[in-house]
Amino acid sequence: MAYYFKCPNCGRNDDFVLPKDDSQTGLGCLLLITGGFLPAVLYSSAMAHRIQCGHCGYLFRQPALPRTAVSALATWIVAIVIVFSLFSAIAVFNPGIGRAIPDDWGGAGLERVVAEHPRTMVITVVPMLALIVIVALVASAVSNYRVHKRLRKHFAVEPGTPGGEPEHETADNAG
Ligand SMILES: [Zn+2]
Repeated sequence: MAYYFKCPNCGRNDDFVLPKDDSQTGLGCLLLITGGFLPAVLYSSAMAHRIQCGHCGYLFRQPALPRTAVSALATWIVAIVIVFSLFSAIAVFNPGIGRAIPDDWGGAGLERVVAEHPRTMVITVVPMLALIVIVALVASAVSNYRVHKRLRKHFAVEPGTPGGEPEHETADNAG
């Protein structure tokens, strides 16, 4: 069964295994003792998805399952909402930012509407933004789930799952 990615070294896509050397765990422990928690966590997360090509032995990081276009769009939407919310919070605590904009910037009419109807603005804009974020996150999760499910049906996803015999299946239950 082919994988959804190729070996960057030899280009084959049908045999990947977990790296055999266990030296990585030793280095992780050493980092934890000498370097502290964060370097150890970063190191182990970098090592976690390491796989080895069964043909040429090349070690590399397994690429994540591809994200859907819906998921990419959702990420942009959520990022935009977060960035503008942060900017809004910064501007609230630094009134100078707002005052730096000239009074005739063209939005004075809209400003008046907001100033005269603050509650209407709050009870419409806040839920709107929250719903946009929730819908984007749900759409992203659902579309990724569907595509990944189909992907798993047609491609191998975990290292060591090609047509070859599983290693832990021994003659234990022969009797
Ligand atoms: Zn290879």
